[in-house]
Amino acid sequence: MAKQKEETKALATYGEWTPEQMEKEAKEISTGGDFWKAPVGNTSVRFLPPKVGWPSPFVIQYQHFIRMPGVERQIIFCCPRQHAQKPCMSCKRADVLETSGNARDEKMAKQLRPQKRIMANVIVSPKDVTAKVQIWTFGSKVFQQLKAIREDDDGGGNFLDPIKGFNIVVKRVGTGKDDTTYTLIPSRTVGPLANMDWIENQQDLRRQIRLPNEDQQERLLEGEDPRDVWGDARSYEGKSKKGSDDDIDGASVIDVEETPSTPPGNKRTAEDDLFDDEVELE
Ligand SMILES: [Zn+2]
Repeated sequence: MAKQKEETKALATYGEWTPEQMEKEAKEISTGGDFWKAPVGNTSVRFLPPKVGWPSPFVIQYQHFIRMPGVERQIIFCCPRQHAQKPCMSCKRADVLETSGNARDEKMAKQLRPQKRIMANVIVSPKDVTAKVQIWTFGSKVFQQLKAIREDDDGGGNFLDPIKGFNIVVKRVGTGKDDTTYTLIPSRTVGPLANMDWIENQQDLRRQIRLPNEDQQERLLEGEDPRDVWGDARSYEGKSKKGSDDDIDGASVIDVEETPSTPPGNKRTAEDDLFDDEVELE
């Protein structure tokens, strides 16, 4: 009895971790757009198996990287045509240039086409049970290496297996756009995930794909701040209450079955990640 009294007293002199706060944090942890960038050197990462119902652990993004005169940074957006058969100004322009019969135009058309980027949920410090699930976006060269590891029964195997999988060592050399290479090496140690909750804590990466409507494409191409174009950090708060983000400022989002608890808005996005990093493109 005396002990219980002591405990009550102790509780009263400390702050609380309320259920609401806990919920808020849990949500932030599970849905936060936390993008990982492979640093120079060797880093061990663990790829997570897809949640039940997901077709793959990977999501392919078709992204435009466009340079416009007078706009300092690259303009980046997912291709509405490739993802949803919707009008895409960049592809449309490329269609025209491609058929002009002029080599210079054809080269420009190529630059206007979308590039493939692949996203995956990974754990960057796989031994740390408190590590957060992060998103790694990479090019097709990295993807090909993952495929080769998966298909190699002797030197590789099913690295995604939560019990019998293994880490992948990402070896990055170089930091520039033209001299950066990634080499993926399967770890020899096979073992279970340090934290099985990671599987559930993964983000549905299909939700990361935001498609600009024609008005938004125009604004992006004119060099308007993408946060204004997408309405990030300003209009999401109110809109999220509707429980649907199918129509965020008129932009359509790829349809997925689950309704997310948080729209992909006011967090960092894959596009943000690319703005301040060099991009590995093929
Ligand atoms: Zn396009």
